[in-house]
Amino acid sequence: MYLHVPFCFQKCPYCAFYSMRGTKNDIDAYLTALEKELLWWKVYLGDKPRALSIYIGGGTPTCLSVEQWQRLIDLLQRYVRVNSDVEISVEANPDSLTEEHMKLWKGWGVKRVSLGVQSLCDEELLWLKRTHTAKRALWAIDRLLHFGFHVSGDLMFGLAGQSLRKWHTSLSNLVHSGVTHISIYQLSIEEGSVWGKNPPSGVQNGYVHYRWAQWYLEKSGFSQYEIASFSRPGYECRHNQAYWFEKNVLPLGPSAWGYIDGTRFWNVKTLAEYLKRATMNISPVEGKERLTLEKSGRESAVLALRTSRGIHIPSFKERYGEDLINSILFEFENVPEDCLCWKGDFLSLSRKGMRVANSIWSLII
Ligand code: SF4
Repeated sequence: MYLHVPFCFQKCPYCAFYSMRGTKNDIDAYLTALEKELLWWKVYLGDKPRALSIYIGGGTPTCLSVEQWQRLIDLLQRYVRVNSDVEISVEANPDSLTEEHMKLWKGWGVKRVSLGVQSLCDEELLWLKRTHTAKRALWAIDRLLHFGFHVSGDLMFGLAGQSLRKWHTSLSNLVHSGVTHISIYQLSIEEGSVWGKNPPSGVQNGYVHYRWAQWYLEKSGFSQYEIASFSRPGYECRHNQAYWFEKNVLPLGPSAWGYIDGTRFWNVKTLAEYLKRATMNISPVEGKERLTLEKSGRESAVLALRTSRGIHIPSFKERYGEDLINSILFEFENVPEDCLCWKGDFLSLSRKGMRVANSIWSLII
């Protein structure tokens, strides 16, 4: 289950993700509409959904006050059944995260907290126009670990003026902070964002930063289990794996999208439309698409190739047919051998292949 919380205290200049500054009334109205959405799914599915994993992301879920969080938890407890080993993950921003949030989440059973660290160099945080400091991010990690959460930290690379030395400072300080999971993202300036219209100078392509992270994190006991994700053994994120291995994902909240039994669903984008539909007792699902076997197979191949496990050729063949896997293998014939990795029945990208993954995926999509 993926729940999108569409609020941020301020808009980052590179981001075009749907989020807005929400007033208390906006957030309360969102929670009321969310209850309607959960009720709608209960009717559609014939019962309350059962979750193996709940991921609450955004936006900035820590924009919700502790009282609003309590209401959100009550709703989920009322309308969702969970497996005894459910993995509940929450995204948090260092500056809006409080110990009260942590206490409440611990009591509910949150296991993972994914913290938007972005950098542990203050001048880079300033350049990104983030409102927290490196010290505040390290404080948040320390408190989260104290409460017993598994902590993941996100870092960005390719920033203007980000030398390899500064990138290493962020990586090594994060490794030594005690997190068990690290996600790294290349700065991408999205169309529709503030920088999309007026890009800053000095943004780098990030190839060397990515290669350095692959080397340094592996050496520090983290394994790369996906293009952007590194973890200590046993700390992989279950929710992400649901997307990569085509498990059902129930989407909740404005602009969320999910996947149920071969059909992709997506919700209306804006909070205004989401609230309007809730008032009219209409589902917020704006569209759905049943993928053809070929399209679904090609997407599945790309998703599997994001992971270090890769494509399991016999099960892929059984599900999508021999012709499709043969066609994909034929399209890969010109890919340099050291970008691909065969292990028994599995085909994956090598470390080098992951560095040029976009150009490899473009051959099959
Ligand atoms: S990057 Fe994160 S915090 Fe910044 S505007 Fe986008 S969703 Fe909000």
